[in-house]
Amino acid sequence: MAKFVYDFTEGNKDLKDLLGGKGANLAEMTNLGLPVPPGFTITTEACRHYLEHGGLPDGLEDEVDRHLAELERAMGKRLGQSDDPLLVSVRSGAKFSMPGMMETVLNVGLNDESVHGLAAQAGDERFAWDSYRRLIQMFGGTVLGIEGELFEDAVEAAKKARGTNDDVDLTAEDFKDLVERFKAIVREQAGREFPTDPREQMDLAVRAVFDSWNAPRAILYRRQERIPVDLGTAVNICSMVFGNLGMDSGTGVAFTRDPASGQQGIYGDYLQNAQGEDVVAGIRNTVPLTELERLDKASYDQLLQIMEKLENHYLDMCDIEFTIERGKLWMLQTRVGKRTAAAAFRIACQLLDQGLIDADEAARRVKGDQLAQLMFPRFTSTTDGITKLTRGMNASPGAAVGKVVFTSARAVELAERGEDVILVRRETNPDDLAGMMAARGVLTSRGGKTSHAAVVARGMGKTCVCGAEELDVDVKAGRFTAPDGTTVTEGDVISIDGSSGDVYLGEVPVEDSPVVRYFEGELAVADGDDLVKAVDRLMRHADGRAALAVRANADNPEDAARARRFGARGIGLCRTEHMFLGDRRRLVEALILAEDDAERQAALDALEPLQRSDFEGIFAAMDGLPVTIRLIDPPLHEFLPDLTELSVKVALAGDGADPRDRRLLEAVNRLHEQNPMLGLRGVRLGLVIPGLFSMQVRAIAEAAAARRNAGGDPRPEIMIPLVGAVQELEAVRDEARGILADVARETGVDVPALIGTMIELPRAALTAGQIAEAAEFFSFGTNDLTQTTWGFSRDDVEAAFFSRYLELGIFGASPFETLDRDGVGRLVRIAAEEGRRARPGLKLGICGEHGGDPDSVHFCHEVGLDYVSCSPFRVPVARLEAGRAAI
Ligand code: ADP
Ligand code: MG
Ligand code: MG
Repeated sequence: MAKFVYDFTEGNKDLKDLLGGKGANLAEMTNLGLPVPPGFTITTEACRHYLEHGGLPDGLEDEVDRHLAELERAMGKRLGQSDDPLLVSVRSGAKFSMPGMMETVLNVGLNDESVHGLAAQAGDERFAWDSYRRLIQMFGGTVLGIEGELFEDAVEAAKKARGTNDDVDLTAEDFKDLVERFKAIVREQAGREFPTDPREQMDLAVRAVFDSWNAPRAILYRRQERIPVDLGTAVNICSMVFGNLGMDSGTGVAFTRDPASGQQGIYGDYLQNAQGEDVVAGIRNTVPLTELERLDKASYDQLLQIMEKLENHYLDMCDIEFTIERGKLWMLQTRVGKRTAAAAFRIACQLLDQGLIDADEAARRVKGDQLAQLMFPRFTSTTDGITKLTRGMNASPGAAVGKVVFTSARAVELAERGEDVILVRRETNPDDLAGMMAARGVLTSRGGKTSHAAVVARGMGKTCVCGAEELDVDVKAGRFTAPDGTTVTEGDVISIDGSSGDVYLGEVPVEDSPVVRYFEGELAVADGDDLVKAVDRLMRHADGRAALAVRANADNPEDAARARRFGARGIGLCRTEHMFLGDRRRLVEALILAEDDAERQAALDALEPLQRSDFEGIFAAMDGLPVTIRLIDPPLHEFLPDLTELSVKVALAGDGADPRDRRLLEAVNRLHEQNPMLGLRGVRLGLVIPGLFSMQVRAIAEAAAARRNAGGDPRPEIMIPLVGAVQELEAVRDEARGILADVARETGVDVPALIGTMIELPRAALTAGQIAEAAEFFSFGTNDLTQTTWGFSRDDVEAAFFSRYLELGIFGASPFETLDRDGVGRLVRIAAEEGRRARPGLKLGICGEHGGDPDSVHFCHEVGLDYVSCSPFRVPVARLEAGRAAI
């Protein structure tokens, strides 16, 4: 029979699938001999069964009985025993950490009798009643779904009656009253009595934790983090230890290295005389962990030792939750800690230097998305004349500028209108998630680096300044006030710097990050800080490992040159349509309006030298490296004036209308297509408009010859778009070959040029074996291939229904961002295999948007492509991921 319950002594860190991250790591710490309060874990499998069937699996209750009895024996007291109660926490814990997303209930086992037992055992009435009211509060919120504010209001009222702002001043009597008040709230809101049977409390809490897997905010978080929907959560039953037993008790969180910068040191927050929730909630102000040395040296020293032990064991930066009960240290949680992009690079290299991990592992520890974050611009260092409002904590780096909003809903609303917003709150909670996602940055006035805002923003890679305590934030009134008296209201623009914690009024200009300057070659590694050194080191390692080359999509010499500085090994897609815009539009119009061969040829002859010089510049920038030039792809009417505008112009002019405009209007009408995406474009244009492709091929060949004469090493590759049948390609190829030969003869210089095609129609992929007979290379145009495989037009559908599709889980990510492995990817595989079978050594690449997407890069590696091509700015990201894919 399945086993649904594991004692902490039975699990280990590798059982995250089954025990969740928290349970697996509690077990690991237990087995390391660290002081973990005893307990057991109910598996995610039990949760999945519960969510699927609406009931607990057979045998679970018996197993829980047995493990609870075991725990009671070990602790020498029974759950809720009236004279000396065992209390437990019931804690959620999924495979992937979802900070604050799901539920935990503390102090389970307290009731009207056992509260006296707890008081007697602890010698502290106040503590016992405080714990009891906390239980009702958490149980009421989590299990019975009662609005938390009702309880908080009651606490506020009690404080007011006592004439204080601080929980610490409330007495045992106050808490007794609050317990009665809380029970009444439960009765009123839930229509039932607060359950006083300890076992019933525990069982209901377990079910509530299971249910919390499907809470809306958890669903939203999973979607954002791309966590699968069907994993379920484990439940940890953990005997309680108390940080709220007086000033020799307390609770805290710690990191083994700074999660913001990656620097080694002692980072964390500590709160005396408090239970765990108080730290994260930012209800009271914590002290830095280093203060603990003064408060309780023995516990502090032990904690540092444990932190070192954990790092050496996990071989990574860890974060930790601990509690001190009357001078005794207890470990309540650990995991490999979340960190900023900069910290990830620094820590990976530190661990490499310490000899804890090897270079492959160091490269595995950093991600392309993190590198992309390091390339974001930051604020200029000169901020003269700009009002600095305050400095908070640098919780998550980046430079964010936007209009101030005070609610999550408003953030979403403005962001949907395309505005940049900064979400300003006193503190955030899980209900603010949508607003945090919509905002450019998050600013809070309370809470430390471990507050909800900080943890979640870091996870999202969103700029965040937290704990800016000098700001007086009045959410209801929609304004905040800075210490100098400046009042900022909704809609005002501010700038926040997540790297320094500075908050400015107005828009601060931004500049390139040092990492970009390093890639640009403007900053030598030796002159860079340890972050630049770490990036350089890991990039080199990735380059050494990569099987995929990285090229760039670039249409002009400037982009080509930048891409090259960023490490591109050629151009995978040089679009030519941009070369027909601007002043050259007239020439294209002339081509379209041509009434006979002579007129058409004249128009083409005028375009050809312009094209030639475009190509010369690009070949020069990519000297010695391949440049794949795609012949013109979009429908010609894209180069003509807008139908409506032109009709109006002609109509208004009446009889006096310019005859050219009339002819243009006629052409626009003639070329109009219901569905241009599937219309006269790509290779079809080349076959229908005589001379068009030939002109381009001639321009390429002449440009290559000119470069060669100038001592250069041009490597042109000619790419035919939108081929669906080998016959199309053959016709164009034969014509192109003829022209290449002509130019070689005319110039006396024979520059070899590969002729290949894009694979961007399902038919092309499915007949790749035939097409490969006529193609010297394939480049997967996965933008069009995605459109044509799914049958939806990117320009129309993304806004129309993608968010709904993501909500419904029809896809986990937009197939335009991350290559759809099962559908589009299958076509790519088929084409790669059959193409290479027909022509061994066939060169394969990808030039869709996906070429710069980490997951898609890994896919291209698996399929065995030769290169990916992406926008110049993504080139470093693709290089890193190409290396990681090969490790
Ligand atoms: P989360 O996943 O949101 O961090 P946890 O299950 O870790 O939730 O619990 C919330 C808080 O309660 C934490 O601060 C934790 O340290 C504290 N806590 C949980 N279990 C116990 C326990 N057995 N004794 C004392 N404090 C606990
Ligand atoms: Mg926790
Ligand atoms: Mg295309």
